[in-house]
Amino acid sequence: MHGILSRLGRVRAIRRFTVRNVLPETLAPLDRLAQNLRWSWHTPTRELFASLDPQLWTRVHGDPVALLGSLSPKRLEQLGADRSLVAEVQRLDEDLRTYLTEPRWYQQELTDPDKPDAIAYFSAEYGITAALPQYSGGLGILAGDHLKSASDLGVPIIGVGLLYGAGYFKQSLTRDGWQHETYPLLDPDNLPLHLLRERDGSNAPARITLPLPGGRSLHAQIWVAQVGRVPLLMLDSNIAENDDSARRVTDRLYGGSADHRLRQELLLGMGGVKAVRAYSRITGAPAPQVYHCNEGHAGFLSVERIRELVQGEGLSFEAALEAVKAGTVFTTHTPVPAGISRYGTDLVSEYFGGSAAIEGVPLEKVLALGAEDFEGGNPAVYNMAIMGLRTARRANGVAKLHGKVSRGMFHQLWPGFDVSEVPITSITNGVHGPTWVDPEFAALVESRLSPEQRASGEGFLLAPEEGGLSDDELWRTRRTLRAKLVTEARRRVRKSWLDRGASPAELGWTDDVLDPDVLTIGFARRVPTYKRLTLMLSDPERLTRLLTDPERPIQIVVAGKSHPDDEQGVGLIQKLVQFADGIGVRERIVFLPNYDIAMAQHLMPGCDVWLNNPLRPLEASGTSGMKCALNGALNLSILDGWWDEWYDGRNGWAIPTADGVQDQAERDRLEASALYELLEDTVVPRFYDRDADGVPRHWMEMVRHTLATLGPKVQATRMVREYVTTLYTPVARSSRALAGAADHEGARQLAEWKARVRAGWPAVRVDHVETDGVADVVNVGDQIRVTAYVDLGDLRPEDVQVQAVGGRVEDDDSLTELQVYPLEHVASYEGGRHAFAGARVLDATGPFGYTVRVVPDSPLLAAPSELGLAASAGH
Ligand SMILES: *Cc1c(COP(=O)(O)O)cnc(C)c1O
Repeated sequence: MHGILSRLGRVRAIRRFTVRNVLPETLAPLDRLAQNLRWSWHTPTRELFASLDPQLWTRVHGDPVALLGSLSPKRLEQLGADRSLVAEVQRLDEDLRTYLTEPRWYQQELTDPDKPDAIAYFSAEYGITAALPQYSGGLGILAGDHLKSASDLGVPIIGVGLLYGAGYFKQSLTRDGWQHETYPLLDPDNLPLHLLRERDGSNAPARITLPLPGGRSLHAQIWVAQVGRVPLLMLDSNIAENDDSARRVTDRLYGGSADHRLRQELLLGMGGVKAVRAYSRITGAPAPQVYHCNEGHAGFLSVERIRELVQGEGLSFEAALEAVKAGTVFTTHTPVPAGISRYGTDLVSEYFGGSAAIEGVPLEKVLALGAEDFEGGNPAVYNMAIMGLRTARRANGVAKLHGKVSRGMFHQLWPGFDVSEVPITSITNGVHGPTWVDPEFAALVESRLSPEQRASGEGFLLAPEEGGLSDDELWRTRRTLRAKLVTEARRRVRKSWLDRGASPAELGWTDDVLDPDVLTIGFARRVPTYKRLTLMLSDPERLTRLLTDPERPIQIVVAGKSHPDDEQGVGLIQKLVQFADGIGVRERIVFLPNYDIAMAQHLMPGCDVWLNNPLRPLEASGTSGMKCALNGALNLSILDGWWDEWYDGRNGWAIPTADGVQDQAERDRLEASALYELLEDTVVPRFYDRDADGVPRHWMEMVRHTLATLGPKVQATRMVREYVTTLYTPVARSSRALAGAADHEGARQLAEWKARVRAGWPAVRVDHVETDGVADVVNVGDQIRVTAYVDLGDLRPEDVQVQAVGGRVEDDDSLTELQVYPLEHVASYEGGRHAFAGARVLDATGPFGYTVRVVPDSPLLAAPSELGLAASAGH
């Protein structure tokens, strides 16, 4: 015995097996139901799994794969003989099959012939279900909701990401409230994933390979998570072919050195494209016409696609860039510099230069894509957001205000243009309703309102006699959701204290934490400084009075993880935890460790008020408040992100901001004080203002208004439709146009044209401008005629557009509310000089001014701003 053990001890690679349960034949479809993540938003499927063994279901945290793996063979045999269960399994299997194959919105209603055959969506993180922890926060959850909604709409997306061996960290607390991180390893064999395998008879796992510096290689295998109709390809470098350091590339999310993160991003972007190719080759799935780069992490996808075209189709780098760009959408998600991936150019050079150089893709051209080569930029930095913008045909921010902030932030890339003309649009984020609406609330609503009444939101405004829900009913359900949260919070607080080293005997008080009838405020999010976790503690006495008011108390549930390297964030958590530990308030304010999807699904429906107090305008969108709104909770937030756009005075409250105040501490103090005031004077009185039946009528009016008006807007299906119609379809069109009938003719032409225009541009100028019909004062309705004499050097009139740019003159002589009028070419003179003219009728009063400029123009461009070049009168 001893001999065998010591021999085993010397075996270096232990061969590991996962012993899977074999399902009785009658229950075989359960495997399919568990493997398709649609169960995560399909309540009947989850109920089916729960019914197999309700206690076990709780123990495995609602994870069907784990449940099936843990049922005893005897129990399985019993279940397999249960006729009604078998019938339900078959019914749901059939339902899934229908969901996966029937024509949906994309097939039935979207008639645009240019819609893409396939879209590849790249993201560094995905939050789909708590059972697949591959996300750190909002970016990942948004990506997960994007895929789910795309599936519901039938949009042919392929997701691309990494499979992190330990996901993001698990958070617990030390006795004194310091964040403690652990990284439990995931076992892919026990996750709802399958390996992409060759179908050549070998059945070998498909492999992709990237070159590394020093002649080394990085190999990865590809796991597929099936998200309804959408496959999500997840690259995994933890395989035997790799050396130790290459194996660790996908070890965890956002961990490690810059070098480590750069390798992850190379694998995600370049490896991701290779994975898409492998997937198409093996399954016959169509090649994408559109590549959506969700935040900058995946930006290297463009380099790989350029490489394909240069090496495979003989395009020049420049023509390949045009072809790639024509099919790319880039979404920026943060105005916070720390949120943008940036690398030293030295480091990037190691991966694209020297022995790692890619034939036909010279280092300096790769570097140019991410260079901060503009005023205020850092020449030693490679910026993935800048790269994303330079390699995309269309770009967007994630809320109206964020679009505006992004246009300001990236204005340097389009120096000849006004900020308002920077080609970054916005699509406001949304959330996946079936994931985020509490099943009990959904059941009530679905039992009473038709799909149309729910979709339009109007059903929530119907009186009971019109078939709608009564205030009482809605209020009772809101209380049920609050009570579920209270139960969950008690369980979590108790567990947290046990983890913190308390003995059960000390923890009797945790049974009394929170109260199902007290106004409940939620605050949960990642903890970067700008989100101001501790703003509510600005005046601890005032907060304590609110929490402990004998008649009308409030209670607060707080959660959030801090990035482990962010000492300041970890410190904020400790400050909050130490306050919440205080005898006297600890029953009214709790910090729940390890914020994740499972917690969010209890927290957001159970709150009455969702608090958000970021430093405006640093919150790009925010989505947690949307999840609350779908459940009838009211938002109390700084006017930032989506709330700036959709707050309407009746769906919640806006915390006034002290935008102009430079002193940070003073600004925090002012905004905190405004928050307390709102709570004391408005929110609390309204919640406790009850009629004879105990219902807060005014409150319920706001709840109904929120459900009716925000409900339809905050849906991710609305968001995905917007992506499809305003970004994916136009990009598919330009991608096809530049690909041409063959040979990428359009891309070659565009690259040559751009080179010619760039070379000729220094000679372009506006010589002089003549105006008829302008006196100091003109009347509305008068016409003015502008003639511009321009020098185009070697360029032709059709290479440019000459524009009169009119607008309101501000005190500093700048123009706002710009309107652009193209002028017609009317005459050519010798030496490259031309006249352009046009007339317009003045239709607005007030100080009006205009200027004339020349911009490049070609039908192949996304917009005349694309090159960032403009020559203006007087310059
Ligand atoms: C929704 C959600 C987020 C993102 O919320 P924000 O409002 O964008 O901060 C983060 N984490 C989890 C677990 C979520 O459910």
